Amino acid sequence: MSELNTVVIVGSSLAGLRAAETLRLEKYEGRIIIVGTEDRQPYDRPPLSKKVLSGEWEADRISLRKPEDLDKLNIDWKLGSAATSLDTTTRIITLASGETVAFDGLIIATGSGVRKLPNQPDWTGVHVVRTLDDSLNLRADLNPGARVVVIGAGFIGLEVAATAKTRGCEVTVLEGAPAPMMRGLGAEMGHAAALVHADNGVSMRFNVKVAGLVEANPGAVGGVALDDGEVVPADVVVVGIGVVPATQWLENTHLELRDGVVCDTTLNAGVPGIYAAGDVCRWFNNLYDQEMRVEHWTTASEQGAAAASNLLAVSRGEQAKPYSAVPFFWSDQFSARIQFLGRANGDETAHIVVGTPEDRSFVALYEKDGYLKAALGVSRPKQLMPFRKLLAERATWEQALELASTFVAT
Ligand SMILES: Cc1cc2nc3c(=O)[nH]c(=O)nc-3n(C[C@H](O)[C@H](O)[C@H](O)COP(=O)(O)OP(=O)(O)OC[C@H]3O[C@@H](n4cnc5c(N)ncnc54)[C@H](O)[C@@H]3O)c2cc1C
Repeated sequence: MSELNTVVIVGSSLAGLRAAETLRLEKYEGRIIIVGTEDRQPYDRPPLSKKVLSGEWEADRISLRKPEDLDKLNIDWKLGSAATSLDTTTRIITLASGETVAFDGLIIATGSGVRKLPNQPDWTGVHVVRTLDDSLNLRADLNPGARVVVIGAGFIGLEVAATAKTRGCEVTVLEGAPAPMMRGLGAEMGHAAALVHADNGVSMRFNVKVAGLVEANPGAVGGVALDDGEVVPADVVVVGIGVVPATQWLENTHLELRDGVVCDTTLNAGVPGIYAAGDVCRWFNNLYDQEMRVEHWTTASEQGAAAASNLLAVSRGEQAKPYSAVPFFWSDQFSARIQFLGRANGDETAHIVVGTPEDRSFVALYEKDGYLKAALGVSRPKQLMPFRKLLAERATWEQALELASTFVAT
């Protein structure tokens, strides 16, 4: 790799910002260019389905940094213009505006975008939630009494359902799988963690297949059609069926793309000086002996920093460090704070070790082959967090139970 005079970061959100901050923190004095599709300075996404959507917060509360702190980073911002292609040989990126940007080091932090229904119509009342504008547009439709149908009982879908209910809407969630949050928590714990929705009057339907959306007045949604012919009436439909990593601009490059940019343990994308971080990054996590892509805030923040640090280290002739971490996320739904440590692949057995689902407050541990693999807490942060250390140490099931036994009385 040549000398590092210009680092380009593509993606102007959490991972990209953390990368830029780390470069400066580690005394990189060269040029930093951040390219971003959105024309706003970096902002936080978790409130988009929670406090911004509820109306408790206005948009100015979610900036990731104050303008004066961003100024100190001395960044050349190229916002409102997407990167459309990358040439890894000449090390040049082309933007939608036609402008080209040359780099010595590159950090790919383009995150993910929402997955849509096949042929999803652009009617009034049909929403997704990924950007600030999405959240504000949906908020304007969440009026008391509105019939809101959320398609998808994943974390974001359920957060939107809870917020809509709190704003006085009638809420139905339609899910194709047999349980809520199944991909993250597994079926049994998904049901246990989602009990707050029934408590608050959200109607949840599982094993239903959506055939398409139904138009009421011309250009406005009126319902969701199921494959058995039933139509669930709706004034507002929120499509929350997951995300896809934003890698379209990297097709036809030498980079390996497989549900994300494939990276090694150090987040290097297979070309010297090119790293990936955040939702877009699929890397080999040594701690789990497994390749993974994680769509959570903490991972994006940590990987942005790790990718920048490794880019700098290698340019200085030092060794890059593997990014090995226990994934972590949280989700707020009504009064429940769901927190999850580790990774569940669906073949573990979950055991509740503290509290009970009936109390809407418990800790469950996930076991496989005699080892602790993950831990779920519902409104039990104090008892959950100590398991992070055990997971990082690849603790045995016996060690996990020993720690759990110290919390049972609390
Ligand atoms: C509504 C919502 C609620 C969430 N709640 C939680 C939560 O409670 N807990 C949790 O752990 N996580 C939560 N998350 C997930 C968390 O916000 C993401 O994991 C995090 O934002 C990922 O950061 P990132 O920088 O990798 O990508 P992103 O935040 O997706 O940012 C990527 C940026 O790159 C830009 N971009 C894309 N393609 C291009 C291109 N070709 N050229 C230039 N720029 C491009 C995008 O426009 C975007 O601005 C939530 C996400 C959403 C949407």
